[in-house]
Amino acid sequence: MRVPIIAGNWKLHLNPEETVEFVKAVADKLPAANKVESLICAPAVDLDALRKAAKGTNLRVGAENAYFETEGAFTGETSAKVLREMGIQYCIIGHSERRGYFHETDEDINKKAKTLLANQVTPIICCGESLETREAGKQAEWVVGQIKAALKDLTAEQVGSLVIAYEPIWAIGTGKTASSDQAEEMCKTIRETVKDLYNEQTAENVRIQYGGSVKPANVKELMAKPNIDGGLVGGASLVPESYLALVNFKD
Ligand code: PGA
Repeated sequence: MRVPIIAGNWKLHLNPEETVEFVKAVADKLPAANKVESLICAPAVDLDALRKAAKGTNLRVGAENAYFETEGAFTGETSAKVLREMGIQYCIIGHSERRGYFHETDEDINKKAKTLLANQVTPIICCGESLETREAGKQAEWVVGQIKAALKDLTAEQVGSLVIAYEPIWAIGTGKTASSDQAEEMCKTIRETVKDLYNEQTAENVRIQYGGSVKPANVKELMAKPNIDGGLVGGASLVPESYLALVNFKD
């Protein structure tokens, strides 16, 4: 059985002091980690405060990005090796904001996935189409292409262990959630793609999140879908009360 994973994506919000306050507010109200994984992916400058505050709680800690090289002359980048040394368990890669504003390519994302896996940090690989692509009815083709490129040369075992986040760009930060049927349809397509590329077991193991205006009011309906194993949540993950309502969606 796949354990649901609800991940906050803080983007460029909150400082280390606010991070510690957040963890204090949620720490003893999180679900058991074997029922629902509660994760916060925070800006690199907050990670040390976050992992220290989260120690001994059910809160898992993730980064929002890492480079595909682990050391060298790469000013401003974050090392997957150091993430591992810090005990950071997850790292988002290929978010549409990174693809769009920072020109990350499918090839970069594939290299990042390999580097993270080699350093025992679990990648959360984002994919998703623009409004234009959806209106042209080409969303499945687009997302399948992104997934094939991101997973290139990864083993079945590696793919079974990672997380894929389907995030239609038109639903991110817009308040416009994909309907639970639209989200399910694409998550199912992604799982079928993994099955075609690998095998049934790998497709059964990989966890697939939906992201894009997930909030307490719609989390239950989304999580009831058979192919949706979690949420990647921006805005609604920044406030303790709303984050707690998301991770405790089963109550
Ligand atoms: P949102 O962001 O929940 O604010 O729409 C989701 C994301 O970008 O991961």
